[in-house]
Amino acid sequence: MAIDDDKRLKKLRNIGIIAHIDAGKTTTTERMLFYTGEIHKMGEVHEGTATMDWMVQEQERGITITSAATTCDWRDHRITIIDTPGHVDFTAEVERSLRVLDGAIGVFCAVGGVEPQSETVWHQATRYRVPRIAFINKMDRIGADFSAVMAQIALRLSGNPVAFQWPIGAEDRFVGMVDLFTEKAIYFDGTAALVNFEEGAVPADLAEDVARARERLIESIVEHDEGLMTAYLSGETIDVSDLKRVARAATLQQRITPVFCGAAFRNKGIQHLLDAVIDYLPSPLDVPPVTGLDPSVKHERIIERPSSAKASFSALAFKVSSDPFSGQLTYFRVYSGSVKIGDAVLNPLKNKKERLSKLLRMHANKREEITAVHAGEIAAAVGLKFTTTGDTLCAPDAPIVLEVMTFPEPVVAIAIEPKTMADQEKLNASLARLALEDPTFRVRIDEETGQTIISGMGELYLEIIVDRLLREFKVAANVGEPQVSYRETIQKPVEVDGEYEKQSAGAAQYGQVTLRLEPLGRGEGIQFENQVPEAVLPKLFVAAVENGVREAAENGMLMGYPVIDSQATLTGARVREGESTELAFKVAAVMAFKTGLRQA
Ligand code: GDP
Ligand code: MG
Repeated sequence: MAIDDDKRLKKLRNIGIIAHIDAGKTTTTERMLFYTGEIHKMGEVHEGTATMDWMVQEQERGITITSAATTCDWRDHRITIIDTPGHVDFTAEVERSLRVLDGAIGVFCAVGGVEPQSETVWHQATRYRVPRIAFINKMDRIGADFSAVMAQIALRLSGNPVAFQWPIGAEDRFVGMVDLFTEKAIYFDGTAALVNFEEGAVPADLAEDVARARERLIESIVEHDEGLMTAYLSGETIDVSDLKRVARAATLQQRITPVFCGAAFRNKGIQHLLDAVIDYLPSPLDVPPVTGLDPSVKHERIIERPSSAKASFSALAFKVSSDPFSGQLTYFRVYSGSVKIGDAVLNPLKNKKERLSKLLRMHANKREEITAVHAGEIAAAVGLKFTTTGDTLCAPDAPIVLEVMTFPEPVVAIAIEPKTMADQEKLNASLARLALEDPTFRVRIDEETGQTIISGMGELYLEIIVDRLLREFKVAANVGEPQVSYRETIQKPVEVDGEYEKQSAGAAQYGQVTLRLEPLGRGEGIQFENQVPEAVLPKLFVAAVENGVREAAENGMLMGYPVIDSQATLTGARVREGESTELAFKVAAVMAFKTGLRQA
């Protein structure tokens, strides 16, 4: 059974596609679904029929807002694609998706390259330690420049990009690409409706570029494997299968970002991108087992659940959406164990049991009713009553609370009132429903004026809420002028310590950090810097400290407003062999940051 289960898990890929708006995320997703046979007629984004962009607003605006999990099959593997939004107003949606993904494709426009929003999302993915591959899209556009985008990924994202393919031509003469492992050229073949490819010789004028790119490819792979390195240095030829095996490992450890190219709109490069998802992105077995807190004991006890269908059930609800067909859908990712229809599961945060009366697997254009869901899989449940985004679901006899997601505070608020006073009740009920869907959307009554105030992550976001009220809930509403929310900041520099120590029956936990907090100029946000050498504090722990600082900043201190315009410098840390964990360092950082805020 365990072997069978590992076999099943190895064939799963839960991935996200992250990109700046307009880079071609929706088109790429759409084409992946097409080539895997999920959809037979391709929708075009600009015609407003793309399958993933199902909300009316998205179709009209040509952007993607909600993340939907869509499943497809390729080379006997099951790929679940979580469509993440690209607009800056929706970064909370991105964060939420990153939490449940195992790997991601970064899509870049071959002309626009790395744009500010791709930087934000890329760094979020780095924080969540999501292994990535990159797809340089729109190679057919005028001004497409593969090497320039590669250089930007290196410089601005520190992504250590390594070309696995080399484009043949660009713009309207983008005719194919070279597989740098096999040194074979692949030429696109076919009409716009369905592009296939055939192998051919590398064009003579590209030979030099290809040779250089191939050398860089091999060098950046063998460097991660001593055996291959020795073989390479002594001039031996290395098997492609060995190179690919080490390339996979290096990608999973986020040491390299394999880079591919194509033109999704012209159906070019999609099959190879799907191959790359299977070859280089992680299965649920390749990521660390999930951890959480044991809610049945008073002191904090961290427990771990293996990625296995045999373990006790644990899952994270990452998306609640009102659905025109089924009422309310709760998307969840199972980390361990299995559940089947009819099972009762525990929501430990709400202390309620929920019954799974119906389970769905979502495809691009159909919903498949399934009878059970196992570790590593993503599904949607119908009819959960108490569960909101970020909640854990678990076996009633083996409770666990998975790491709670933190959401940024809303930044823009507006007053809202119904066009006709008779609609007040309906407006309140509709707003409450929308708030349930999205933790970054808030509703409150202003005590002084009696007005209803809604707040969210941006103006566009609130505009869409008003639009949805009218279309989905049939409530017409007037809104006032947007107001920007308050922020907290510090006024003087301080240096503070944070120490976290737990000696419990389970594993010990230890982490100690010293942080210096300083005020920054307006608009500079939160800057983090590490001055502790790697010999003292390994990189993983530094990342955990940064996570802690950013999380604490988001939650604020005085009034719960986010803290901004502050510099946090890690100036000291203490590690205890065998006892130090990422979690302990994160908690220590949160403690130090909060103490510092109080003093500064
Ligand atoms: P998203 O915002 O990242 O989801 O991007 P979309 O998939 O909506 O694409 C944005 C625009 O770029 C649309 O008009 C697409 O038709 C267009 N587009 C996407 N991929 C390509 C491509 O490979 N070549 C060209 N020329 N246009 C593309
Ligand atoms: Mg889109």
